[in-house]
Amino acid sequence: MSDCIFCKIAKGEIPSKTLYEDENFRVILDLGPVARGHALILPKEHAANLFELPEETAAAAFVLAKKMAGIMREKLKCDGLNLLQNNGETAGQTVNHFHIHVIPRYQEDGQHIGFVPGEPSQEELEEVRKEITA
Ligand code: AMP
Ligand code: ZN
Repeated sequence: MSDCIFCKIAKGEIPSKTLYEDENFRVILDLGPVARGHALILPKEHAANLFELPEETAAAAFVLAKKMAGIMREKLKCDGLNLLQNNGETAGQTVNHFHIHVIPRYQEDGQHIGFVPGEPSQEELEEVRKEITA
């Protein structure tokens, strides 16, 4: 993907604030952090999103997310941490190269990363359960 900015960053063709690098991944600081230490895990091999990501890369990415979480807690003394991973414009994805957000959280950091819960009936839950498992 010659025009993909995260490909270029992951391969080191564009400079970034790199926290970690190995053969398959680069972890960088997000340029628009929602909290101190907000990082992005980028596979070096291009995949637009989770749907296109090879299973082995998905597995390795989550192991790396756990490693980064431990580092954030140890070094930045964060109180909590969110992993966030957007797929598709509808879901808020703005860069079409798979990435996992690693977001250290601090008491009173003022951020609200959450959802508005729905109130489905038991019938509605059962309907969607059947649709997914059919
Ligand atoms: P998403 O909305 O999940 O696609 O997240 C894209 C993230 O990439 C946003 O949090 C941006 O702040 C971040 N971002 C975009 N361009 C760059 C860049 N060149 N270097 C670092 N982070 C970036
Ligand atoms: Zn890419």
